[in-house]
Amino acid sequence: MLYDALLTEEERNLRDEVRRFVRDEVPADLLRAMDRDEIKFPYEFIAKLAKHGLRGLRFPKKYGGRGLPWTAEVVAEEEIGVLGMALGCAFVMTSIVGEALHVFGTEEQKERFLRPIIMDTKIPEEALTEPRGGSDFFGATTRAFADGDIFILNGQKRFVVGAEAADFFAVYGNTNPQAPPHERISMFIVEKGPGVEVEHVYGLLGCRGTGVGRLV
Ligand SMILES: Cc1cc2nc3c(=O)[nH]c(=O)nc-3n(C[C@H](O)[C@H](O)[C@H](O)COP(=O)(O)OP(=O)(O)OC[C@H]3O[C@@H](n4cnc5c(N)ncnc54)[C@H](O)[C@@H]3O)c2cc1C
Repeated sequence: MLYDALLTEEERNLRDEVRRFVRDEVPADLLRAMDRDEIKFPYEFIAKLAKHGLRGLRFPKKYGGRGLPWTAEVVAEEEIGVLGMALGCAFVMTSIVGEALHVFGTEEQKERFLRPIIMDTKIPEEALTEPRGGSDFFGATTRAFADGDIFILNGQKRFVVGAEAADFFAVYGNTNPQAPPHERISMFIVEKGPGVEVEHVYGLLGCRGTGVGRLV
């Protein structure tokens, strides 16, 4: 819980704005339909976030963000969090995937992937966890082989929120099993398409309505 005294005026205003958004823009029926697994992904929630400029709060204005510090984003997450885990995950994914793109991506990648997940309704998702487990991040067994100027990725990922709806995934793969753990893993942007299959959609308690699935 963040106390008011720790927040800047800008953060308090953002908190009030997001609280109004949660109250006025997200119908209770959406949450009920998600819990009954009647919808595959909360597209309308993402569209409303984009319309209200609430995707990518932490990213620079030049990509459509608000250029706010991460502390402000946490304030917003706390408010969105009252809607439950499913919409909370849908909200934070722009930050999780976007941060990697913003810090490590090329300008071309930022234009192609970062801007549309902030200003538009493009859906980014993260594929980190594997059937063998998720806590041991550097032990990921998905292999990435360089083949000329492309990489070939082989492996499986599970518990991927929004797997069915995603336009692209941030996939973590091992490029060199002999390297020290912290140098083994690279992140790849993988667009949905041939060779990327969503196999099993779990219906996880609390995550229903977001199409959580396994990626093979
Ligand atoms: C709401 C939600 C959304 C998620 N969304 C995504 C997503 O979008 N994409 C994605 O890739 N993953 C996602 N995940 C998966 C998440 O990243 C994994 O659940 C997490 O990394 C833990 O992995 P695991 O579930 O395989 O558990 P494991 O790694 O198998 O761990 C099982 C248990 O063993 C304990 N444990 C593990 N290693 C050790 C150790 N060395 N010493 C002591 N104890 C240990 C853990 O604390 C845990 O209690 C999501 C999970 C949740 C709950």
